[in-house]
Amino acid sequence: SIYGDYIKSVIRTVPDWPQQGVNFRDITPLLQNSSAFRKLIDSFVHRYQDMELDAIAAIDARGFIIGAPVAYELGCSFVPVRKKGKLPFRTISETYTLEYGQAEVELHSDAFRQGDRILIMDDLIATGGTMLAAAKLITRSGGQVVETATIIDLPEIGGSARIREAGFGVFAVCS
Ligand code: 5GP
Repeated sequence: SIYGDYIKSVIRTVPDWPQQGVNFRDITPLLQNSSAFRKLIDSFVHRYQDMELDAIAAIDARGFIIGAPVAYELGCSFVPVRKKGKLPFRTISETYTLEYGQAEVELHSDAFRQGDRILIMDDLIATGGTMLAAAKLITRSGGQVVETATIIDLPEIGGSARIREAGFGVFAVCS
């Protein structure tokens, strides 16, 4: 993205959060900066405006912040991919392994139609586990994953490579 360096410059790194040795990428300064936030959303809109998406599946919770305005602007559906136990209707879920323990993402079984063209969005790719679980879940549900999109990729952790190896495209505004 042409704004990648600028957007990266307004993301704050918080050392040793949530635990010692982790450099947390904090997007709240980016959200506070209205012109940076607009450039971010426009970067996604520009990339996906001619891709005939049916839906944006955004990952709980920071994925929602970017997924909703992009869906609004592109005129496609918005589908929340939620953490376990949050969706009230019939669900389909995918479990994945974290460094310590397991996590689960869920989708409503009527979230989209078979063959729908879906873009998955989240704020950051680290190990890629969350994005990959969402991509598998959507594929299992009969959706066609057009691409996965994120604000920040941390390529040294290898998550985006892992997602690509599984056959899904990755677009990152900054890396
Ligand atoms: P992964 O599953 O790729 O290891 O981790 C990505 C998920 O964890 C995303 O849903 C993201 O919101 C969250 N995450 C992990 N590390 C960070 C970070 O440094 N900053 C932000 N904003 N989110 C993170």
